[in-house]
Amino acid sequence: MADLHIFKDFEGTLIEYEPMAKHTYYRLGGPARYFFKPLRQEDLQKIIERCLNNNVEFIFLGKGANVLFSDKGFDGLVLNLEDCCSGFERKGEKSTDIHCGAGAVLFKIVLEAEKLGLAGLEMLSGIPGTVGGALRMNAGAFGAEIGDVVNSVDVLDPITLKAMRLFKNSIDFGYRSAPLLENKLIVSATIRLQPSEPALLGRKRREILEARKAKQPLDLPSCGSVFKRPVGDYAGRLIEAAGCKGLKSGHAWVSEKHANFIVHDGKGTSKDVFDLIAQVKHRVETAFGVVLEPEVQLIGF
Ligand SMILES: Cc1cc2nc3c(=O)[nH]c(=O)nc-3n(C[C@H](O)[C@H](O)[C@H](O)COP(=O)(O)OP(=O)(O)OC[C@H]3O[C@@H](n4cnc5c(N)ncnc54)[C@H](O)[C@@H]3O)c2cc1C
Repeated sequence: MADLHIFKDFEGTLIEYEPMAKHTYYRLGGPARYFFKPLRQEDLQKIIERCLNNNVEFIFLGKGANVLFSDKGFDGLVLNLEDCCSGFERKGEKSTDIHCGAGAVLFKIVLEAEKLGLAGLEMLSGIPGTVGGALRMNAGAFGAEIGDVVNSVDVLDPITLKAMRLFKNSIDFGYRSAPLLENKLIVSATIRLQPSEPALLGRKRREILEARKAKQPLDLPSCGSVFKRPVGDYAGRLIEAAGCKGLKSGHAWVSEKHANFIVHDGKGTSKDVFDLIAQVKHRVETAFGVVLEPEVQLIGF
């Protein structure tokens, strides 16, 4: 593996052997060989090029709300855009578009849209993570998805090193998927919203946050829903019906509050969670013949 000095030309925070437990909602995961938060958007292309030229594997990380790193971590560069691409602004005084950096926290955009009286993001209230992570996952809740309100996404192709602007229709957003964004670095996006009333949006936001609090074990580390919804059913219903609620592996268990959440008590390991994912999958397939697909992104397993 190349050494640290290959990134020395770039300003930002570069840490070697950084525990991914510090950067994920699961609070789990071993060290990344390099964890880099560059300061300048202009450097992103060169950083990726430097990785390619030195055979350093790389991945992109937002707030780590939908990832599980293995206990042995990741032997490459974890690139985070929080310090170079986290701004956002309305595109003009009367515009219904908001341009957001990929490293911007999604909930901050939800609040900004509410303040501006722009509707379309309120159902996503309380989804943790960044705009980049939300786009890559086509995050959604309560019948809405971020893909519904995207106008365009600016990406960097890490193979050709070209910057591209992709428009909504070409991205082909699907349920928790955005095929054209896979393996690309999302740098920014323009979200197109609809005029509305701040008070109405605020009321909706509070209702959504209450509903989430009532249904989800938000006091324990998790990645939200572990599995995607299978066609015509709910992963949580199947997991519960297969008798998995409360099922344990080491310090992790299937939440009693929401069967599609796997949580741990703070002493868990990634292996505890990973083993439990396999057990739940096996039990549901045995009981109902349904093969559940993880929504959580597994890294380094
Ligand atoms: C308590 C809780 C509740 C949740 N509820 C929901 C919910 O209701 N609905 C829902 O959809 N999700 C939910 N999630 C999952 C998670 O919040 C979303 O998937 C979120 O969009 C992840 O954003 P992130 O920035 O944390 O992405 P990360 O977890 O950091 O990354 C997720 C994926 O996106 C990629 N990625 C991140 N940034 C970029 C970028 N700039 N360019 C390219 N790829 C990138 C990563 O490589 C990874 O593959 C929940 C999670 C938790 C912990």
